[in-house]
Amino acid sequence: MDETVLKGSCLCGSITYEILPPFMAFQYCHCSRCRKVTGSAHASNILMPPEQFRWTQGEEMVGRYEPADAKHFATCFCKHCGSHLPWLAQTGKAMVIPAGTLDQIPPSFELVPEQNLFWDSRATWYQFPHRLNAYPTLPGKSIACKLAP
Ligand SMILES: [Zn+2]
Ligand SMILES: [Zn+2]
Repeated sequence: MDETVLKGSCLCGSITYEILPPFMAFQYCHCSRCRKVTGSAHASNILMPPEQFRWTQGEEMVGRYEPADAKHFATCFCKHCGSHLPWLAQTGKAMVIPAGTLDQIPPSFELVPEQNLFWDSRATWYQFPHRLNAYPTLPGKSIACKLAP
């Protein structure tokens, strides 16, 4: 049994949290809500039982928004820096963790996304990463490489 506790935080560091595996799912969501809320092509969300989640610092700084027409969806964010943060589904059945807010993950810990949701709603400009030049850091500071498909 894996007892690894993973830690996460917002960009400004005011808010921190801990999660305990195992998780229910790890998925990219391309729905229009997730695209708006992340400002990106898709959300990268871990779903887990709420009991395996806890705020460890700054919970009073957590804002929450629920769209009027949403039954499941909500979003939480840091009131200071605006980072997207873990949110409890309106059903209360799942905690949704934006994976990009996790801090260092031990190399031995396997965390691999397994599916795309709302693929038909993906951004028209979405491209598979392997089709794009990949710079180790910045263009001009590193040499682009090609990624394997
Ligand atoms: Zn913050
Ligand atoms: Zn979504």
